[in-house]
Amino acid sequence: MNIYKYDILFQEVPNHISLGFYVCGCSLRCPGCHSPELWPENNGYALSEDLFESLLDRYSQKITCVVFLGGEWHPQKLVQLLSKASARGLKTALYTGLNDVSPELKSHLDFLKCGPWVARLGGLSSQTTNQIFWDVKNALKLNHLFQQQEIIKETP
Ligand code: SF4
Repeated sequence: MNIYKYDILFQEVPNHISLGFYVCGCSLRCPGCHSPELWPENNGYALSEDLFESLLDRYSQKITCVVFLGGEWHPQKLVQLLSKASARGLKTALYTGLNDVSPELKSHLDFLKCGPWVARLGGLSSQTTNQIFWDVKNALKLNHLFQQQEIIKETP
């Protein structure tokens, strides 16, 4: 499983500071995709278990969550890595362009963003979005948290 990059993310999972992994090999080809560098499977570099563990060692005091942006097309590998994050007491999240993922994968997730990018509907901060951000364990939709962030940004 190759990643294009990793980064510390503040907005992708509300109320959490996340270590985010941008996974290569997305085959959905959403029109207007902001991340076409994630389309080729062999872009970037391999996220080995050793590299993942060393990044958790480096950042675990600063983060509360690990989020994968894509990677559901490597379900076994993803479950392995999510389990390692959970074992350290970190929350886990996945951003997928699919409308759902397998129950097995969901059982390893605290948060799940579903749905492809559709420009005319907008992303999670849009009232008209097709995307859903789930609190998986509690079966709650949390889109309102992204929409509140947008209202706060717009308030002078
Ligand atoms: S799911 Fe995300 S990365 Fe994949 S094509 Fe759609 S917008 Fe791009």
